Amino acid sequence: MSRRAVVVGAGLAGMLAAAVLARAGVEVVVVDRDELPDGPRPRRGLPQGRHAHLLMAGGLSAMEETVPGARLRAALLAAGAHEVSLSSGMLALTPEGWLRRWRREGPTMLTCTRALLDWTVRAAVLGHTRVEVRRAAVVALAGSPERVRGVRVSGPDGEAVLDADLVVDASGRGTRIVPWLDGLGLSGVRTRTVDSGLVNASRLYRVPAGAERFPLTVVHADPYVSRPGRSAMVMPVEGGRWLVSCGGTRGGEPPADPDGFLRYTLDLPDPIVGRLVSGAEPLTDVRLSRSTSNVRHYVDKARKWPEGLVVLGDALGTFNPAYGQGMSVAAFGARVLARELERAGGPDAPGLARRVLRGAARPVDAAWSVAVGQDVLYPGVRGGRPGVADRAVTAYTRRMTRAATGSFAAASALWDVTSMRTPPTRVFHPAAVLAALTGPPLPLLTGPPLTPAEREVLTGLDRTGV
Ligand SMILES: Cc1cc2nc3c(=O)[nH]c(=O)nc-3n(C[C@H](O)[C@H](O)[C@H](O)COP(=O)(O)OP(=O)(O)OC[C@H]3O[C@@H](n4cnc5c(N)ncnc54)[C@H](O)[C@@H]3O)c2cc1C
Repeated sequence: MSRRAVVVGAGLAGMLAAAVLARAGVEVVVVDRDELPDGPRPRRGLPQGRHAHLLMAGGLSAMEETVPGARLRAALLAAGAHEVSLSSGMLALTPEGWLRRWRREGPTMLTCTRALLDWTVRAAVLGHTRVEVRRAAVVALAGSPERVRGVRVSGPDGEAVLDADLVVDASGRGTRIVPWLDGLGLSGVRTRTVDSGLVNASRLYRVPAGAERFPLTVVHADPYVSRPGRSAMVMPVEGGRWLVSCGGTRGGEPPADPDGFLRYTLDLPDPIVGRLVSGAEPLTDVRLSRSTSNVRHYVDKARKWPEGLVVLGDALGTFNPAYGQGMSVAAFGARVLARELERAGGPDAPGLARRVLRGAARPVDAAWSVAVGQDVLYPGVRGGRPGVADRAVTAYTRRMTRAATGSFAAASALWDVTSMRTPPTRVFHPAAVLAALTGPPLPLLTGPPLTPAEREVLTGLDRTGV
């Protein structure tokens, strides 16, 4: 008899988990309360989709493994996504200075709207597997404290129970997993929240004629100066557009009014983002997001856990988006599910849920340490403060970043971690440690490493007189 899985949420974690389950021969029903658009368009259930989403190389390759044959990278590039080389294709001001651009290749990331990414992944999964998507809101789990046997859904025809051998909660940042477990008689799951009060403000612009090849430009926040973090980024997306995103922690939040938004970019340690966009045509209003705290539900540590229930993606852990990790972590979780399903031989194998949770928690904890290790340094942060270990890691990270402004070995170590191709411990490899200790062999740059053509574009666009 065929086994059935119900996946709660048709976001990235949900669709990737559905692909994995379908490939394992499981009948899959994905339930989402949102109306899913028939194309790359924003939707209500994904409010973060209006903001900049960087897809790191590590996350992309996990996605490609999860949906083999779909050639996601090629599909995204064909639809207008950009592939940005971290070593040569970016202008980045770190708290320690401008990073150089190297002729040597480094890891890459993809940039496009979140709407395009979700649509491409959803279309690939639905095109390559027999996954069914239904519109309904999940309101509770069905079963006992020993075994989850399905979900209770609320739809246009009232409430009903959807039976399943395996339930995957991929309902994102707003998951109700803790009350749902309470409803089964399972309490005691610990949740931790660390909130820097970050607000994201984003706006789409038309790329001005002649600026099509201008590199992704980012002014990073500085967590080391006991002041609110403030950042801004110009990111190319499909359709000849720039997605411009500002982020500010508590006390340094960007505003939603257009003049204030531009002023915010100009007041950063380098005004390059404001100078660029001052001459570009805005296509939307400024949109804000406050859903940015780090939240971890320690379901993998629960003393008692039912068979038949797995939690993946943001429902397991969410991070301050400034570090660009959430989508990759969702893909890593789906990859763990694939591995454990193969080992166990079926979705109802004893102990499967526990093993998936423990495996999926590893990349969540790595991403958490990157995000929270920096967030606790910002003034007004809630839910955490820097400990001795945080201070030691901070001192080392600063040194490494300083070295990366003029050393390829140090910069490579940082890119490998940023692109999520390796765990954060990569910065402690011998070559990286040596580079950090030696410092940058090349002098600090005094301004952005622009080519003469890029300098001309910037000057031509600048309406600020800065
Ligand atoms: C401002 C911002 C910027 C970000 N930038 C980046 C970035 O640059 N790089 C990166 O990797 N990550 C980034 N992230 C994180 C990224 O958005 C998430 O990590 C990612 O969306 C997680 O995917 P998910 O499938 O777990 O959840 P989601 O994508 O949120 O999907 C959850 C789905 O569940 C559905 N749902 C919820 N509740 C129910 C229910 N009860 N019943 C049925 N359906 C339900 C929702 O409708 C939704 O479709 C950013 C986040 C924010 C807020």
